[in-house]
Amino acid sequence: MLLAARTAVDGLRVRQSPEKTRIVFDLGSPVEHKVFSLTDPHRLVIDISNAELKADVDELALERTPIRSIRSSDRNEGKDLRVVLDLEEEVKPRSFVLKPIMQYGDRLVIDLYGEAAQTREPVAQKSERTLTQMRDVVIAIDAGHGGDDPGAIGPGNLYEKNVVLSIASTLRDLFEQEPGFRGTLVRTGDYYIALHKRTEIARQRQADVFLSIHADAFKTPKVSGASVYAISQKGATSETARWLAEKENRADLIGGVGSVSLDDKDDLLAGVLLDLSMTASLSASLDMGNLVLKELGKVNKLHKKSVEQAAFAVLKSPDIPSLLIETGYISNPGEAKKLATSSHQKKLARAIFNGVRDAMQDNPPAGSYLAWVKEGRQDEGITYVIERGDTLSEIADRYRVSFKKLKDFNGLRSDTIRIGQKLKIPPG
Ligand SMILES: [Zn+2]
Repeated sequence: MLLAARTAVDGLRVRQSPEKTRIVFDLGSPVEHKVFSLTDPHRLVIDISNAELKADVDELALERTPIRSIRSSDRNEGKDLRVVLDLEEEVKPRSFVLKPIMQYGDRLVIDLYGEAAQTREPVAQKSERTLTQMRDVVIAIDAGHGGDDPGAIGPGNLYEKNVVLSIASTLRDLFEQEPGFRGTLVRTGDYYIALHKRTEIARQRQADVFLSIHADAFKTPKVSGASVYAISQKGATSETARWLAEKENRADLIGGVGSVSLDDKDDLLAGVLLDLSMTASLSASLDMGNLVLKELGKVNKLHKKSVEQAAFAVLKSPDIPSLLIETGYISNPGEAKKLATSSHQKKLARAIFNGVRDAMQDNPPAGSYLAWVKEGRQDEGITYVIERGDTLSEIADRYRVSFKKLKDFNGLRSDTIRIGQKLKIPPG
C-alpha cells in the first residue's frame, strides 16, 4: 500500500488572552485530530493523523501560559504526529478546525480554558452601582481584530490590529483621567475575540457606550479619510458601508471562532427588543457619531461627512449606543504613514474622546455623575445619609470633593461617622 504524503504542520502559534490560551497549527491540508488529557502530571495530548511537524516548537514563547513545555513525536511507524503539552495546571481543552481564508490555509485550533483564566476582573454589579449614587459612565473601547486576524496590512508591515490597539489604549487613558468617566479595553493584547463576545464583554462591564476602533483598507489605494458607522437593520447607506461591513464581519473566520451560531440571541432579540431599545440607542449612536465625526474632521480628512450605517456584527448590541470608527485607510500610503505615528494616533484618540464626552455630557445616563453635574445640583450641595460600611474618605472620593472640605463643610471634628448620620456634600 502506498502512503499518501503526510500533511505538513508548517507553523505553530501560542497566544494568551485573559480568557484562554490558544494554540494554532498551520496545516498543508485538512487533518483528522484527537485531543485528550492526562493527569499526574497534567498533560494534553494532541494526535494528528497522517501529519508531520515542520515547525520549530522550541522557539515558542510560553510565559504567562499554563504550558510548561511542548514535545512532539511520530506515531504509528512515522505516519501520525503526536504533540504533548506539559501543563502547569488542569485545563479544559476545546478544539476545532478552520478552513482556508485570506492569508491562511487550513488551521487546527486548540483553546485551553484554565482555572486562572476564569477569574475575570471584578466588575461592580448593578446593585452596587446604584448604591454609589453617582456612577461613572463606562466607555467600552474595542480595538478591532487581533491575534490571527491582523486586519488591514499597510506599507512597511503596518498592521491595523496594532495601530488600533494603540489608539484604543490612549482613548481608554483619556476617559480614565476624565471625571465622571471610566474607560475599559475590550481587547488588551494581541489575541482574537469573537465579534459577539466583544459586545458581551462590554455588557458584562456595564458599558454605556461601545466603540470599535478600526483603520481599514479599501480596494483602491486612493480612498482616504476617517469615517464613523452605526448599525443598520435595513441595509447599508452606501456601497462602501456595505462592503466594509461584509469585510469586518469576515473577521471571525480569519481570527478563528469555533462555532458561529446562526440563531443566537441576536436574532431572537431582533423582533421585539430591536424595535424598542434599538430605536433609542440608534438615535443616541447617530448623535454621538456626528459629534465624533466633527472632532475627527479637525485632525483628519473625512471620508464621509455624516454617519454611515451598515449591518456590522460587532455593533449588534440593541441597548448600548455603539459606533464603529474608521480612523483612516491603511491602504492609502499617505494616511498609513500618519497612522503609524504615535502623535497622529494620539490626535485621533483625543478627537474621538472629545466627541463621545460631549455627547455624554449633553445626554448623560440617569444616576451618573454627569447627570448630576448637568442638573446643576453641584451648586446646591446635596445631603447624604451614612450607610453601613461607609467611610468619610470614600464618600469624599465618591462626590469628588476633598476629604478636608467635606469635614469642614459639616463641621466635623473627628473622622468617626455613624449609620444614619446626615452629611451635607459641598459643591464640587
Ligand atoms: Zn477593521
